[in-house]
Amino acid sequence: MCGIVAYIGRREASPILLEGLKRMEYRGYDSAGMAVLDGDLRVGRAVGRVAALEEVLEREGGFEGTLGIAHTRWATHGGVTEANAHPHRDDGRLGHGIAVIHNGIIENHATLKRYLVEKGHVFTSETDTEVLAHLIGELYRGDLEKAVQSALREVTGAYAIAVVCEKEPDVLVAARKGSPLMIGVGKDEYIVASDSSAIVAHTTQAITLDDYTVARLDRESFRTTNVDNDPVSAEIRELEYDLGQIDLGSYEHYMLKEIHEQPEALRLCMKGRVDLRSGQIVLGGINQFARDLARAKRVIFIGQGTALHAGMVAEYLMEDLAKIPTDVEFASEFRYRNPIVEEGTVVVAISQSGETADTLAALQEAKQRGAMAIGLVNVVGSSISRETDAGVYLRVGPEIGVASTKAFLGQVCVATMLAAFTGRRRFLAAEAVRDLMERMSEVPGHIERILEQSDAIRDATARYVERDNWLFLGRGYNYPVALEGALKLKEISYIHAEGMPAAEMKHGPIALIDEGMPVVFLATRNSQYDKVLSNIEEVRSRGGHVIAVATEGDEEIRDRVHEVFWVPDVPEPLQPLLTVVPLQLLAYHAALMRGRDVDKPRNLAKSVTVE
Ligand code: GLU
Repeated sequence: MCGIVAYIGRREASPILLEGLKRMEYRGYDSAGMAVLDGDLRVGRAVGRVAALEEVLEREGGFEGTLGIAHTRWATHGGVTEANAHPHRDDGRLGHGIAVIHNGIIENHATLKRYLVEKGHVFTSETDTEVLAHLIGELYRGDLEKAVQSALREVTGAYAIAVVCEKEPDVLVAARKGSPLMIGVGKDEYIVASDSSAIVAHTTQAITLDDYTVARLDRESFRTTNVDNDPVSAEIRELEYDLGQIDLGSYEHYMLKEIHEQPEALRLCMKGRVDLRSGQIVLGGINQFARDLARAKRVIFIGQGTALHAGMVAEYLMEDLAKIPTDVEFASEFRYRNPIVEEGTVVVAISQSGETADTLAALQEAKQRGAMAIGLVNVVGSSISRETDAGVYLRVGPEIGVASTKAFLGQVCVATMLAAFTGRRRFLAAEAVRDLMERMSEVPGHIERILEQSDAIRDATARYVERDNWLFLGRGYNYPVALEGALKLKEISYIHAEGMPAAEMKHGPIALIDEGMPVVFLATRNSQYDKVLSNIEEVRSRGGHVIAVATEGDEEIRDRVHEVFWVPDVPEPLQPLLTVVPLQLLAYHAALMRGRDVDKPRNLAKSVTVE
């Protein structure tokens, strides 16, 4: 989680580092820091946003130098304080002047710290990272690359790091295991960063480091080795990233922009993949494995957060359309419960960033146990996309808002195509696939209509925004949407919300309902509509206020609820693509009314790269 950026070249480092930090601020934003080498090492750190660091640098008269490292933190070990902000330095007594930035967790930090304290090292922070800085210092014998390799041989956990040393003013060392890190290759300069957004303004040539790789960069050249100093190859590839895509434009927040981008995102997601005339679905990334998929005995979707909810929709789709027994699991639970993976098991990892540590670890575990691995990710070249046997990119464009919106739609859209693609190779008639795809191609237009209700949704939200407890209820395909609606509200407005199957409410949570409690129902016309109507009555009889998402033209429901948001009529498997949209807007408006920072909600970060 956190953004790392480092520069070595002939230009001033600090403006490049600051700009990189700003572009990656969505990755973590509780504190920030920078070290620039110009003879001596100058270090600035601040609690808060990158802007706070900028002020510190200004106060200090700016840092000059052409080699530097910078970091935005998402704390894992130690509170959010200036002392815990990165860069961390080795023990001053040794006089090496080493500084380290780190993303990840050093899991054996306690043991290493005991060893170092015995050797007389004095620590100044509560972080796991500082242990790494001291260890590199302890092992330093005049060669930073070697010291980093030696230190990493002792370390367990996950890391992406960049390291500089006063004694080697022409060297930058970077390494990774389990946390993303790439190197932009320019002319006589290199930019190391957690993601391409910090690189593309300078160069489109980049190397994505593999796990256990250490890179040593000077101004003219680089080399990559493993931690035992054996050479490893590194491939330079062209980055496809359009900075214009991450401009806010006229929108106030990325989240709102991304909600509004959803129609176009879905069109791009389907483009070239759905042939409406023949009813064929073309998924280039998995064509080669189509037979294995069609013969699968079991499919398991894994993910976390919003991606898990997309996986829950995918479970329904896969059983419905492809008739393959399917499960969905939190990747973190799957990974550590000794899961049974029999022959014919396909594991599908869902992750917007493709870097979610829990999902990546679970995927590796599943592969080791013999599963075929498929990835549904958005970021091209990400760790999950490189770990899987096959995959389908979401192609919804970069998602910057911490609360996922268009990526969820992309995940569900790809899952729908995947299920129909697989179903077609089993029992599903060509006609059925064509009909479904035809209806899905109309979804972007439908979403445009839903977005027009934004003001009405805002006004309705205003009537309940003071309430501290909300329920979100749905059945069938709309059950995962209830979970997603509750999650959106929680993560950006900090209002307590719970999502659950509508039927489950009467088994306990109904006790929560009191006069005026907002209860959001996904109540579209589908096979369980009548049952949902009964659940609505149960809530109303106890004083709850019902906010319904209902099918356009459903006059029957209008009189039974307090508020209603309309979505066009589509077949049941496609309903999540529409019903989630009003709930995204509801959460957005609620967060604004409560004065929250919509794009950078407290305690969160965009891609969770620690387990
Ligand atoms: N574990 C380190 C810390 O707590 C790094 C966290 C991060 O990735 O930002 O400082």
